[in-house]
Amino acid sequence: MYRAMIFIDGAWLFLNRQKLREVDSEEQFQLDYEKLPIVIRDALANGIAARTGEESGEVKPLIMRTYFFGAQPVNYHVDNEQQVENQEAFYDSLRSRYGYEVETFKVDFNGFHISPRERFEKDFERLQEMSWIPHEKQVDVALATRMMAMAAMPGGYDIGVLVSGDQDFLPVLRQVRELGRQTAIVTIYGAAAREFLSPQENAIGDYETVLLNNYVETLRLVYDKRVYTCASCQRNFKSSYRPRRGENMYCNACRADYRRAHPMPYGEEIE
Ligand SMILES: [Zn+2]
Repeated sequence: MYRAMIFIDGAWLFLNRQKLREVDSEEQFQLDYEKLPIVIRDALANGIAARTGEESGEVKPLIMRTYFFGAQPVNYHVDNEQQVENQEAFYDSLRSRYGYEVETFKVDFNGFHISPRERFEKDFERLQEMSWIPHEKQVDVALATRMMAMAAMPGGYDIGVLVSGDQDFLPVLRQVRELGRQTAIVTIYGAAAREFLSPQENAIGDYETVLLNNYVETLRLVYDKRVYTCASCQRNFKSSYRPRRGENMYCNACRADYRRAHPMPYGEEIE
């Protein structure tokens, strides 16, 4: 069985995820980060099957680890406080719910707004006085270093999967292959360097590029209800809540019983 590790360029994915929505749709595209590694695994299985002539169901690679490299804004405009809080909660849920390895790097925003559009609209005058762009290179270098280190490690991965479209990663893809490991590219059409679309020709990948655009329906986040077993009464019930790893789930009846048995002391209710 092939052993694969996924390396996600989080800043790139965040910026480009809207390219996954329907062309004339106004809705925000919400990506299901729980399904992303599964979609990648199954797409890779098709690639492996095409090379070996086996059935794709029999050559599903083992996803050993999913790394996510993201920016952690500091010194940003005060308007963005809530946005940054949401982002931290998001990183936390990648770790605790979906088992990602999350590595974040501080990016100094110099008092500017975080999103390029907001910067253009609201910081225009200051931007004219001093031309400035956020310095996010640490994220890329960290990803490349981790991908190389894991390729060089005995017992590392067989296939290093890069999720990005940034041509800065061309050298690391070549180097990983020179170490005798395979690489695969997962990207978004419309947000990918030209070389990423023909990896074999460019000696940067061993499989046909996986375009997330082809998996939009699977990757769209929908809070479907799933069946859980109540940790107290053992009955099955449905909920759209996603528990953290190891978190117990309780049915509505048991929750209500618990609240009756443990009323909140007067005055301690949290706002
Ligand atoms: Zn129960």
